[in-house]
This record gives sequence, C-alpha cells and structure tokens, in this order.
Amino acid sequence: MNTAELTRLRSQPVKAGSHIIDGELRAASHGKVMDIVSPIDGTLLTTVPRGTADDANAAAAAARKAFDDGRWSGLAPAARKKILLKWADLIEANAMEIAVLGVRDNGTEIGMALKAEPLSAAGTIRYYAEAIDKIYGEIAPTAPGNLGLVHKEPVGVVGAIVPWNFPLMIGAWKLGPALAAGCTVVLKPAETASLSLLRIAELALEAGLPKGVLNVVTGEGAIVGAALAEAADVDVIVFTGSGTTGRRLLQASAKSNLKRVYLELGGKSPNIVFADAPDIDEAAKVSAQGIFRNSGQVCIAGSRLLVERSIHDAFVEKLVATAKSMKVGDPLDPSTGAGAVNSLGQLEQNLQFVEEARLAGRTIATGGKRILAESGGYYMEPTVVAGVEPSDRVAQEEVFGPVLAVLPFDTEDEAIEIANGTNFGLAAAVWTQNLSRAHRMVKRIKAGVVHVNTYGGADSTVPLGGVKQSGNGHDKSLHAFDKYLDLKTAWIKL
Ligand code: ADP
Repeated sequence: MNTAELTRLRSQPVKAGSHIIDGELRAASHGKVMDIVSPIDGTLLTTVPRGTADDANAAAAAARKAFDDGRWSGLAPAARKKILLKWADLIEANAMEIAVLGVRDNGTEIGMALKAEPLSAAGTIRYYAEAIDKIYGEIAPTAPGNLGLVHKEPVGVVGAIVPWNFPLMIGAWKLGPALAAGCTVVLKPAETASLSLLRIAELALEAGLPKGVLNVVTGEGAIVGAALAEAADVDVIVFTGSGTTGRRLLQASAKSNLKRVYLELGGKSPNIVFADAPDIDEAAKVSAQGIFRNSGQVCIAGSRLLVERSIHDAFVEKLVATAKSMKVGDPLDPSTGAGAVNSLGQLEQNLQFVEEARLAGRTIATGGKRILAESGGYYMEPTVVAGVEPSDRVAQEEVFGPVLAVLPFDTEDEAIEIANGTNFGLAAAVWTQNLSRAHRMVKRIKAGVVHVNTYGGADSTVPLGGVKQSGNGHDKSLHAFDKYLDLKTAWIKL
C-alpha cells in the first residue's frame, strides 16, 4: 500500500455530499444537512443532506419513471452489461480514493476496506454484469397443444437500505443484481456511511447509467428509509441492518402496497472448535480475525466461540494472545488490525455488554475497555468474555462490536443445542478433521452459511442469507437475481 498516497488522501477536504435524484445532485427539500463526524478522531468531516420524505418520494418517482419508460430495462442486455462493466472499471480505477473516503466516514481498517469495499464492489458489479446475457427464460414441459413460456422480467423499483459496516460491499450485493436485472433503484445509505456510496453513484453516471436509474437519498433511517418503505412507487425493499428496523419495514409494507421485503438482519454466529481441529493455532488465529476485524462490525462475525472442553483453556489462551497482538487504532495506518468503532453510540453499546457480563461474574479474559480516547476517536480493545452461559445476553444478542463470548461444550449434541439456541441463523463454522462430523454439523446447524475449517471469505459464487430471525432471501451468487426478477407465464394454445 502506498503510504504517501494514503497520507495525501486522508488530508484532502471532503466536499459536502448531495442526494443524487434523477441524475442530478440535489440538496434536501428543506435545505438542512447532517454532520458527518469521522470515527477516527471525532472531527467534522463534511455534511450530507438531511433527507426528507419528499426527497425519498421524489427519488422513488424518478426511479419509477426511469423503469416504466424502459430507458434501462429496454436496453439490449449487452448494452446494460457494457455500462455496468465500465462502472466497475471506474470504481476499481479509483479504489484507493474511494476506500480512504469510506474509512474516514466509517472507521474500517484500510487493509480490509480496500479489498472488502471498492474492490469487492467492483467484482460484484462485474459478476452480475457478466451474467446479464446468460439468464434464460423457460419452455415448460406441457402436454402437446399448449406452449408454456416462463419469462423473467425485472420487478421494477427497488428500495435498497444498507448499513454502515461495509456500505460498498453490501451496497453492491443489492445494486449489482438489481441493476443487471433491469430494475431501477433508490439507495438509502446509513447515516454514518454515505460518502463512498455517493461517490460510486457519481461514477455510475459517468459510466453512462441513464439518469433516474440509480438514485441516492441520504439522511435518517426513520425518515428517508421509512418513507421508502411506505412509498407506492417502490416494488421491493432490500435491506441489511437490525431486526428492529426489519420489523418496521415489514409493517410499512403491510400498511402500504405489500411491496416485497427482503431482510438480512445479522446474527450471533457460532464458531465451533472440536478438539480434532486440523490446526489449533490456525483455528485460534482465524477465529480471532473472524470476530475482531472491522472491530466486530460484521454481520457474519463469529461472535460465539464454542470450544470442546478438553482444549478449552489452551485454545482461549491462544486466542487471547492473538487478540492482544492485534493492533487497534488509526484505520488509515496499513499495519492496523482493527480500526475505529463506527460511532460513539455503538462503542457505548459494546462496553455495556461487557459491563453486564462482568457484573454477572463472567471472566473478561482480555480487553473490555475503550482505548485511545485522547485521539477523539472511538476505539475498543478486542475483548474475550469466557465462562459465558448460553442464556447470557452476550451469547444471545448481536453486540456488533469486538466482543467474543466463549462457551465450552462436551459433545456434538451439546454443541448443536447451544449453536442453534438463539433467534438467529446467519453464519457458523465448524473446525474438525472428522469428515463425517463436518457434514453432520453442516446439516444440523441452522444457518445460511456453515464454514468448515475456516471463517469468512466465501466468494461471490455462493449465496448469503439468513434463516430464523436472521432474515430471508439471498445476496450474492445467481440466486440473488430471484429478488429482482419476476416470473411471468405465457400460456399459449397452439
Ligand atoms: P444498525 O443498528 O446496524 O445501525 P439499523 O437497522 O438501524 O441498523 O440501520 C440500517 C439501515 O436502516 C440504515 O441505513 C438506517 O438508516 C436504516 N434505518 C434505520 N431505521 C429505519 C427505519 N425506521 N425505516 C427504514 N430504514 C431505517
């Protein structure tokens, strides 16, 4: 990583953001803005429009018009592909600038942000662009005398409401397949991570995406997001965020036009280490990364560590050593292992979980405190809480911070019972050399993805989606198109 470039980019002033509605940069209808405070040092970075319901509705109307007149869905697939590929190229060409902007906004360590944000987004957009002309309809196996054709058509206007932990990666998981399918989009970034999404939306216009096809409205979730969820012009909401908001979106759909709502709501993912794990050192290292990278602000974070009792103490020792060796601090220092917590509110919530565990008599094996407060930024030590009971809040609820809950187990059945004993079902991992056990566990664990002898890193070719209260529908892979393509039957008498 070119540190001179990093230094230059980090000190550049950041221009005030604007909504992007119908291809134009716009202020909020009432002219008000929202301060964007950098979690790196607590200073004011810039402002973005404090969006209104009118702004959300104007964007939805622009997206509706752009969809209905076919300026995008009516293009030849190859023409749409060319524009999306150009967009991906532009994102990649500006990756460092976009990554630094995003880090100044949300605090993710640059090493991870560069790969997981602009480069991952470019890869995702390319993946779906390349798929555009490889999706076929069907001819149904009907009796002679009839012809049943199954067409795949874009669903219409998509409202995409995304979080702040990986705005570009998760944003692209929605934008890539939605736009490739021919839909138009209104994107609502999270309050604390708008800037990099606004930047790539500008690049989309530069790549030739027709105006009105991708609109971005910044502002508060309870105002802009809520308006999109109720908008008659929106056909589908795709969302990644909290369960509380997910429930509101479902209610808004029920109250308005019954728009489809796809939710990715996080998890309390069990990372299960058996005594016969192939490499205990590797398992400890990857398990630490699986919870502490991006300060634990990862939907699939392995936030519950289940360790077979015979190796429990030795494993926790290794894990604590890895946690202690992790450099926490300035996310724009390439040697940093974990950057800033996204906001003061999130930091306080993390500390609250630890305090509660401490009061309940659990062992804080390492960490547990805010650090580097003098920088003005929001930093927290990687934290391991041992001796946790399955019913503890820290073992049941998503912290969304660098806080790992460790629980011992004795048998495979007990591991399954603990693993499946939360309301969530997003991700999991199993570490074992026993092939039969690995397959048994994959089948028995209730989760959208079960890693074996690794954690994270699943590429674009496989789906990600939750079961239970972790959500519905899938991002990534060709299955993501299911949310953006409708089936239409033509039943023809011959
Ligand atoms: P988190 O706790 O991760 O911030 P949220 O669900 O609050 O999760 O936020 C995820 C996204 O949902 C953000 O873009 C946020 O602005 C948006 N959001 C928050 N509240 C609402 C709401 N009532 N309606 C629609 N969107 C919302």
